[in-house]
Amino acid sequence: MTKTINSITQENDYDPNSMPVDKAREYIQKFLNPVTGKERLAIRDALSRVLAEDVISPVNVPQHDNSAMDGYAFRGGDLNENNKTSLTVVGTAFAGQPFKGTVEKGQAVRIMTGAVIPDGADTVIMQERTERNEDQVTVEFVPLGANTRKAGEDLKQGAAAITAGSVIRPADLGMIASLGITEVSVYRKLRVAFFSTGDELVGVGNPLGEGQIYDSNRYTIFGMLSELGCELIDMGVIKDTPEDVETAFQSAADIADVVITSGGVSVGEADFVKQILDKLGEVLFWKIAMKPGRPLAFGKIRNANFFGLPGNPVAVMVTFYQFVQSALKTIQGQKYFKQTPTFKVKCTEPIKKAPGRTEFQRGVLTTSANGELTVRTTGNQGSGILSSMSEADCFIVLPTDVGRLEAGAMVEVQLMGGVSR
Ligand code: AMP
Ligand code: MG
Repeated sequence: MTKTINSITQENDYDPNSMPVDKAREYIQKFLNPVTGKERLAIRDALSRVLAEDVISPVNVPQHDNSAMDGYAFRGGDLNENNKTSLTVVGTAFAGQPFKGTVEKGQAVRIMTGAVIPDGADTVIMQERTERNEDQVTVEFVPLGANTRKAGEDLKQGAAAITAGSVIRPADLGMIASLGITEVSVYRKLRVAFFSTGDELVGVGNPLGEGQIYDSNRYTIFGMLSELGCELIDMGVIKDTPEDVETAFQSAADIADVVITSGGVSVGEADFVKQILDKLGEVLFWKIAMKPGRPLAFGKIRNANFFGLPGNPVAVMVTFYQFVQSALKTIQGQKYFKQTPTFKVKCTEPIKKAPGRTEFQRGVLTTSANGELTVRTTGNQGSGILSSMSEADCFIVLPTDVGRLEAGAMVEVQLMGGVSR
């Protein structure tokens, strides 16, 4: 069953020339086909992959009631609420070396943290609240069941420990190992083909001719895709001729789940690209009400999802983080991700902005002398100024209606995907 992307154009408020950021995200999410192919991997190899089948617990975790303290285990009903109680110590329970007998009325067992609660016992008191004298131990009052961990309190046998659609993180590896499971089923990696378009572009390693520039978008796209764990097919720079562009789109769609291009979708250039894409698939061309990153093409070429990103180096990254990243997560089979959250901080300098579009200015977060987290912009916000991205650790997200802001204004910031410094 193929859903038709063109049906979007029938929706009431559809305006390709002024598409709100949220609306574009919503439309994109409706027309993605998540991968279905699975593979079984040893658990370490599954780190950062998307789980394809629930991990079901074969056991209770913990498997037995056990002690949360070093101390003594006994029958809670033996204690006097108002006085100390003397009990006879009949043995010791270590973690991994249980006490084999049964604790009878008036008896106690010396117990270590993690040791199985012996038969008959149900309560533990910490060592510091006891006095030992030969085989007698005097204990203060503690409530029935105190200081014990119950079998299955972490996870019940038969319950899903981790559900399909989750990304496997370090904590999950530990969880899976704690169940004694050695392999899990994950979705296969997405195959993503990408290329740059533009007669002015030269790949690094070659000399620049007059008016030529180095292709940087394939490197930022490579980086952003790598951080999402995709299998990459770098198709290089494609010349702005209908033949070259058509051949490139066709071979990309033949080999990949997702095709990503940069350049060639702005007003002056879109026409012949549009004709080719109309022939090969179903692609919509939008002007997003955002800055930077106005033009965006989205659709399908054959069965591959297609994202035509703008050419400007900053616009490429902003549109990738705002639209493509979450789309790829969905296509990877992820179910539980959120759009990177924003939070409010004070901006230490004025911000230039005109109302009308959502802006994603580049910011640097700093903790000020009084411990408050603040943000400043990276200066020149031109959509070709790649150094502004390189310096930034967050986007300052300025809503459509907002105009110029004075120093000290509270602004929303969003940490940049993959930023680790
Ligand atoms: P376009 O959308 O193709 O009109 O490109 C817009 C601007 O981005 C132009 O100045 C291009 O030279 C520049 N540009 C396009 N593609 C790239 C690229 N791959 N690397 C660096 N700059 C690019
Ligand atoms: Mg171009």
